[in-house]
Amino acid sequence: MWKSQDCLYCRICDQSKFCVDCEGVKLGSELVYESVDSKRLYRCAFLQNSENCNDCFFGFDLKGCSDCSACVGLRQKRFHIFNKPYSEEEYRKRVAEFNLSFRSGLNGLHTQFIHFAQNFPRKNMNLQNCENCLGDHLFNCRNVIGYVSTNSEHSHWIERCDGPIWCYDQIQSGSPELCYECITNDNGYMVLFSLYCNQSHYTFYSDNCVHCDNLFGCISLRRKKYCILNKQYTKEEYEKLTGSIIKKMQQEGIFGEFFSIEMSPYGYNETNAAEFFPFTKEEVIQNGWKWRDDLPYTTGKETLTSQNIPDDIKNVDDSILQEILACEQCGKNYRIIREELTFYRSLEIPIPAYCPDCRNRKRLSRRNPQRLWERICKKCREKMFSTYSPEKPENVYCEKCYLKIVY
Ligand SMILES: [Zn+2]
Ligand SMILES: [Zn+2]
Repeated sequence: MWKSQDCLYCRICDQSKFCVDCEGVKLGSELVYESVDSKRLYRCAFLQNSENCNDCFFGFDLKGCSDCSACVGLRQKRFHIFNKPYSEEEYRKRVAEFNLSFRSGLNGLHTQFIHFAQNFPRKNMNLQNCENCLGDHLFNCRNVIGYVSTNSEHSHWIERCDGPIWCYDQIQSGSPELCYECITNDNGYMVLFSLYCNQSHYTFYSDNCVHCDNLFGCISLRRKKYCILNKQYTKEEYEKLTGSIIKKMQQEGIFGEFFSIEMSPYGYNETNAAEFFPFTKEEVIQNGWKWRDDLPYTTGKETLTSQNIPDDIKNVDDSILQEILACEQCGKNYRIIREELTFYRSLEIPIPAYCPDCRNRKRLSRRNPQRLWERICKKCREKMFSTYSPEKPENVYCEKCYLKIVY
């Protein structure tokens, strides 16, 4: 999260306020619930790939819309339901009939919307203001292969980055240049195989070093130069020693890759990796990686079962803040906190029946995987790349054909 406030259970929601259960909802979004990869939303819920919308519920690829429910691919529209226009009065009446403040009403419309949206053509990749790019959710990029990134140039295999130039294999970094295989190396220059080394230059195999130059295998240093394994050397010693270390590592075939997964202090099942590449415990152990059994959660301690939570948020009183709930999906206990309850009440959204982890997983499953496949445009039969795998049933169009149907 970056420049945001009062957000709960959100990820990569930059410059946003009062959002709950969102992923990639950015740029001045406010009062948004369960939305994914969208910008500048106000009072919206269950939106995806949408921007500049307000008071919309359930939507996919909406732009400049307000008061639209269960719609797909609309541009500058008001008072639409399932892509059909209504008068304001009729719209409000019909939306009231959905009973969205009831869990049953919300789930019912959700199911209908999924069926409706499936028949609507999809764009092969979400690229906006991009030139010569491949991937998904790229904005203002040139010569890039990557995902969920902005303002990037000449960079490949980047994810959640802003402003990298000439970088390869970067995750979650702002303005790195000539960097390779790094996680969060903001404003780094020539940082390689490192993580959390911000404002640093010529840094190799280091972790959490800030404002440093010429480091090799260092951890948690501040404003240091010419260090190997946190030990200070002169410039000449450093250059001589690193030369021979790199040569030895090259001979052993271990130079040129990020820290190996065996060195991770975390269990595979508690990392982000598990969201993108889910493996069973057996598979993880077989690969020689760590698995964590004692994850910090409880089950069976609930004081209120989900059937006993009032269906309508309007009937939920403050006593729910004292209760322990149990996830309908995995059984994990979870609670509702005051800020969350205030949010649900203000948007008239029922209490969720799933724990935050299951909500997160469900939300991510709405997004395409970060992979590219070759497909044929359903309309013009041109070859194209897409994040929709060939087995996916959606009608996938190339950008040109897709824009013809929405505009
Ligand atoms: Zn759960
Ligand atoms: Zn086409």
